[in-house]
Order: sequence, then C-alpha cells, then structure tokens
Amino acid sequence: MKQNVFKKVKHSKKTKNNETASQVNAKVSSEVEFLKSGKCSHNDSIKRPTFKLEKEDEAIITGNHMLTDKHITIAQNLLKKQFPHINGLMSTTLGPIGQFEVMQNKKFIQILHTGQTHWICITNIDCPNGTIKVYDSLYKSLTPLTKKQIADILYCENDKIDVFIQPVVPQTNAVDCGVYAIAYAMSLCLGVDPCHLKLNRRNIRQHLWQCFLAEKLLPFPSSRCSIPGHPTKLQIRIFCSCRRPYEANQAMAECSRCSRWFHQGCGDILHTVKHFLQTNRKR
Ligand SMILES: [Zn+2]
Ligand SMILES: [Zn+2]
Repeated sequence: MKQNVFKKVKHSKKTKNNETASQVNAKVSSEVEFLKSGKCSHNDSIKRPTFKLEKEDEAIITGNHMLTDKHITIAQNLLKKQFPHINGLMSTTLGPIGQFEVMQNKKFIQILHTGQTHWICITNIDCPNGTIKVYDSLYKSLTPLTKKQIADILYCENDKIDVFIQPVVPQTNAVDCGVYAIAYAMSLCLGVDPCHLKLNRRNIRQHLWQCFLAEKLLPFPSSRCSIPGHPTKLQIRIFCSCRRPYEANQAMAECSRCSRWFHQGCGDILHTVKHFLQTNRKR
C-alpha cells in the first residue's frame, strides 16, 4: 500500500539539494542577475541586498504591474530596519534556491513567491511550534514551492506542519498580490491582524511608491472590516533527514527497518549508520 503513496519517476543526475544541474544553473544565473541589478553595501549583501530605485520601478509600482523580487526585498529591508526585533523578512530570492535561514522557534514574518506569479505573506507569530499562518490575497491552497519554503524556514522535527490560511479580504485584480503581501507584513509588524484590513485599492500603489522614496513604510490606506470567515486548515507532510515535503520530481524510498520515507537523492548515510549502531549495540 505504502508504495503507492509516492510516484517513482525517472530523474537525471542530482546535486546535493536534489535538483538537476540545469535547474540549479537556472537558479544561480537568476540570482546573479538579481544581484547585478542592485548595489551591494556589505558582506551580508547576498542575504540582504540593497537597491537603487529606477524610473522603471515607479512605472511598475504606480502602474498596474506585478511587483518583482526587487520591490518586495526593498519593502522587507525597510520593515527590518523599522522593526529590528522581528525575524525573517529575508530576500525572496533565497527561498526558491533553498537558502532561507532556519527560524524554528524564532518568531518571523516572511513574504514568499509561490512559483506561480504570486506573492503571499507567512508568519509564526502567535502560533504554536510546527504551525504557521498564511496570508494569501487570492488562493486557499499551497503550491509545491510554498510548501518547500515553509518547510525550510521551520525545519520541523515533527512529521507535519499545520498551515492556517487566513480569511483576508481578497485582491480585486490579478496583479496586486505583491502590494497586498507587503501590507500584510506591515500590519503584522504593527501587531494588527491583517484579516481586518480592507485595502483602499485606488491609493495603495501610490502609497507604496511614496514610502519607498521616503525610505520608511507606513500603514497602507485601508478601512477596517470584520473577519470575512474562518481560517482554512491544511497540512504539509514532512519527510527525510532534509525535513522537506514530497516533491513531484523526486523519487522516494522507504527505509525497510523503520518505515520512514526519504528522498532518494538525499542519500541519508547518517540514517543508515544509526541503524547499524543500534544493531551492533543489541549484539
Ligand atoms: Zn530529503
Ligand atoms: Zn530507518
């Protein structure tokens, strides 16, 4: 029965993080492009790059366009400066390449790219361990990349992460998700539940641009609304020594001794050694 849980697929040569060489190359080159577009100020620059605002940024932000990693990172850098005690707020390009800092018990706020042209905000503030809240202005589901990024940040010892997708007032077009995600992060930093936020769509982009120019984020123009419903509860099952979920492009193998599942690419030598030692102790 268990064998049917996971689809075994053919895959090319894996790297340490179980990605094909071409996937890694594509990610590295996009990271290089990302860094090239910004001015790095200190040796923490890969973790927290800084940027110069250009004319095209104004066009993207105040016109109706999707925000990019650059804009989300500028906003999160400003929040980190204004609320230094809050963890997370890491550069969004670190997530897809598996480089987010592990937060475990630290309270954090983080904006994520879902891998499907969409931005969301997550936090573990006011959550028990192994639990997370998601603020998503469009969907009530999780993409594979979102699950992986959540798993990487929590690096959870449990076999599951409970996710509560919060009942927020939805965005009214297809392109405002980045602005909404920043507004949720801002609200969480101030200790205000984003579920009560009804953003004033006409002014939020102009507001964001003015905040960027002033280098200080202020609460977004909004009215208060009652909570539109209940959170949607989902679960992310966690496997392997890497503490990540199942991924469609990775074969899984079940340990014949303890029935735990592992990504084949993770090649868990320590796990095998542990069983070996247990057997030898019994002798
Ligand atoms: Zn693994
Ligand atoms: Zn085992």
